[in-house]
Amino acid sequence: MAPFDLVHPRSTDEALAELRAASPERVAVLAGGTDLLLDIDRARIAPHRVVSLRYLPWKFLEWSGDSLTIGSTLPLRALEVEPRVRQRIPGLWEAVRAVGSVALRHRATLGGNLVRSAPASDLSPILLALDAEVEVVGPQGSRWTPVDAFLSASRRPRLSFGELVRAVRIPEARPSAYHWQRVRPVNDISQVGVAVARSPSEGYYRIAVGDVLPRPVRILPAEEALRSRPPTDDEVRSAAELVGKLSPFATDRRGTEEYRRHIVAVLARRALLAIRTAAPRGPAP
Ligand SMILES: Cc1cc2nc3c(=O)[nH]c(=O)nc-3n(C[C@H](O)[C@H](O)[C@H](O)COP(=O)(O)OP(=O)(O)OC[C@H]3O[C@@H](n4cnc5c(N)ncnc54)[C@H](O)[C@@H]3O)c2cc1C
Repeated sequence: MAPFDLVHPRSTDEALAELRAASPERVAVLAGGTDLLLDIDRARIAPHRVVSLRYLPWKFLEWSGDSLTIGSTLPLRALEVEPRVRQRIPGLWEAVRAVGSVALRHRATLGGNLVRSAPASDLSPILLALDAEVEVVGPQGSRWTPVDAFLSASRRPRLSFGELVRAVRIPEARPSAYHWQRVRPVNDISQVGVAVARSPSEGYYRIAVGDVLPRPVRILPAEEALRSRPPTDDEVRSAAELVGKLSPFATDRRGTEEYRRHIVAVLARRALLAIRTAAPRGPAP
């Protein structure tokens, strides 16, 4: 591994100043390091300076009524062991538990996963289904962007040099589910991931599929097929078939397009049935 300077800013302003002080190709941002350190070790990047987010006050989890804001550097394990996340946003909890192993989740963060924007990310589909928003801080201040707009078609998120992700907000606790398929259950990348969420107030569904290039997508015709409140068995079956038919899968070494279409339809049906009549459990904090 090539040597680099490691700096530990203690405030957001200090972190932004550290970033600005270096040129883009020479500086890297470190959260949990589960992706970044592999990149450095394998010489995919060779930063001279690494700005660690470790000591920034961004490891928080805040409920405001039904809305949850998660600091970008909070380790995924903290979300996993928070009972209210499991009770009130079960799809998020399921997606977090799909990431790597317990040991990995002690380090990996939500911000790092979103910025990495890997097509096989387990977290992007559920954040899309939950209509989450991302807080970006930079020299111009802070802005909130829907995850849908943050994830771009170029496999790189819409984040300019000098900007950082500070938080992710889920505007409403929703009945939700994340179902996935992979060859090995732990420390393997998924072949298929499907996230579903239902707005308890308005009843509409959002369905997002992962493991597609370049980023997860919503399957709008499938969402529209769920007309009744709650949807009938036939509507659920039709919606799941549409997810299988319309998901833009490709064949690669992790699975064929045909296999993925079949599996995603099965998983989508199960996930929709799981949330059809579910209510978020537990009192609003
Ligand atoms: C063995 C193994 C298994 C894995 N399994 C899975 C899996 O099953 N599912 C899955 O989705 N992922 C998996 N991953 C990927 C990885 O763990 C996640 O992407 C992780 O969430 C990244 O978070 P991090 O904090 O480690 O990010 P880092 O490695 O610290 O950073 C990742 C990238 O994001 C940038 N970055 C980080 N935080 C910020 C921020 N706040 N603002 C701006 N830029 C930022 C960094 O500069 C870097 O480019 C696996 C990785 C490994 C090594």
